[in-house]
Amino acid sequence: MPIHQLPPQLVNQIAAGEVIERPASVLKELLENSLDAGATEVDIDLEQGGIKLCRVRDNGVGIAGAELPLALSRHATSKIGSLEDLERVASLGFRGEALPSIASVSRLTLLSRQRGEGQAWAVESTGAERDEARPAAGLEGTSVEVRDLFYNTPARRRFLRAERTEYSHLEKVARQISLSRFSVAIRLNHNGKRVLNLPVARSLEEQERRVASVCGKEFISHALYVEHELGDLRLRGWIARPTFSRSQPDLQYFFLNGRAVRDRVIVNAVKQGYRDVLFHGRHPAYVLYLEMDPAYVDVNAHPAKHEVRFRDSRSVHNFVRRTIESTLAETSAGMNAAQPAAGLPAGAAERPRDRAGEFNHPQPSLRFGAGRQGIAESSHLYRALTATSAAANEGESASGDIPPLGFAIAHLHGVYILARNSEGLVIVDAHAAHERVTYERLKGAYLGAGPDEAGGVQRQPLLIPLRVNVSTAEADLAEANADKFASIGLLVERGGPETLTVREIPVLLRNANAEALLRDVLSDLGETGASDRVEDACFDLLATMACHGSVRANRNLSLDEMNALLRAMEATERSDQCNHGRPTWTQLSMQDLDRLFQRGR
Ligand code: ADP
Ligand code: MG
Repeated sequence: MPIHQLPPQLVNQIAAGEVIERPASVLKELLENSLDAGATEVDIDLEQGGIKLCRVRDNGVGIAGAELPLALSRHATSKIGSLEDLERVASLGFRGEALPSIASVSRLTLLSRQRGEGQAWAVESTGAERDEARPAAGLEGTSVEVRDLFYNTPARRRFLRAERTEYSHLEKVARQISLSRFSVAIRLNHNGKRVLNLPVARSLEEQERRVASVCGKEFISHALYVEHELGDLRLRGWIARPTFSRSQPDLQYFFLNGRAVRDRVIVNAVKQGYRDVLFHGRHPAYVLYLEMDPAYVDVNAHPAKHEVRFRDSRSVHNFVRRTIESTLAETSAGMNAAQPAAGLPAGAAERPRDRAGEFNHPQPSLRFGAGRQGIAESSHLYRALTATSAAANEGESASGDIPPLGFAIAHLHGVYILARNSEGLVIVDAHAAHERVTYERLKGAYLGAGPDEAGGVQRQPLLIPLRVNVSTAEADLAEANADKFASIGLLVERGGPETLTVREIPVLLRNANAEALLRDVLSDLGETGASDRVEDACFDLLATMACHGSVRANRNLSLDEMNALLRAMEATERSDQCNHGRPTWTQLSMQDLDRLFQRGR
């Protein structure tokens, strides 16, 4: 075949192959156009899983009659005009490909009345045929109606699934978009039935109601509100307490400048933020909004724009991770006793059964084999801890103040501590709580034990330096990041174009596989510009030590010991849950108890 120019219809169908996979992709493109047009009301009508009909009507700025045919031609857009525009694009669309692509594989009607104009105009398109714009009746705003998707591309049509499946994809898109703009009211009908009706959400309370109707009430009742700004980065939203973790990463919404993205750097940063409050294999749940200067992120990295490229992915990673970490760190036991969002008092009284199921995690396995020394070290810490806090405790009780977790009354079957505070009864899992406190202590001691003032990590020279063969690129990376390696306790030197020599490793990891660790750190650095492997490995080891050094079940604690533990919990970050995300304590208030005994009914 000689070389020839492809007909426009075919070009559009090829483009459709990239961005229009199923009815849900049509809906996504149409909704994004409505948001870009500044709509505050959006109505979605779907029939037969969106295959027969997908219509989006909005009250946005509309399109001038004369421009209607242009809206359906390829590479025609009102959103950018130059390369500078592209480099700081803030709209969701900018490629000018969606409408022509959709039009090439469906029967499409575009009807619009520009804001301030008296007349609406419509244009119809069927496959390659396109009519002239004609006057029509319509309100200000735009309506795009897409019928019989893939009617002229049987191969694509065969890939469509059952109506129910397609519908569930459509609903997912609508939910995601609805979380991206609280300022837009969204209504959705499927086969004539109203399925979603979300009013504009202005106040925080209204926004939480929308989040609850999209993500479930359980999510929001276990959520912590996040809001943090640093330079021109701003993160806000809701993250679930570790006690509400998921077996799948299915409740993770992240919006970058109002665009839903699923980006490796971000996913990893959030995961790191939850490090050591979530059991391995569990996934955090969150709805987060990151705002930043559009010039510092490239959204033109992927046709469907799910992935983005940050100019400085490392600082974004750190910012997100630290924000999550410090929000979770505020969950010290006793701090949220009065806050219903803690979910613990209500949970304890109303849902004992599903809680038991949810937290049925095994203990972590020994990853690096804790030696005897570890146990001795941590029980020594425990003694120091009980001594100091017992003294502090006496002072407090003398002044008559009741601390948040109250005073111990009894140790039940060597497992649970019962305590009385101003609300009522506090129940503490002694082992889980002690493990957490010890772990945070060990971590603090470990991080502060370094040779320099910054509190780096204590290193130990290897008897025989370890030579590791790597690629040139990896060797370059290690050389450029020598400081970073040193700060995490690895002293690495370049031994040749393709060799690295490890001279020192963190004291705690003297029995670990240094080569595997080095390779993991290198691959993390290459991918996200940061690595927490070494710290992770150390923390894993400390967690194991904490577990072994903590109060075992069936050892009866004295009142002093119990009170000391309660005081230590109050003073410890993240002590609301143990290292595996199980709760460490719960509270039955007098009202809860009254309810149990049906008093006052
Ligand atoms: P893009 O969104 O990338 O610009 P599209 O093919 O999705 O490309 O849309 C082409 C143009 O049609 C847009 O740039 C916009 O000017 C106009 N348009 C599409 N949908 C709407 C709408 N709902 N309201 C107003 N204008 C719209
Ligand atoms: Mg668009």
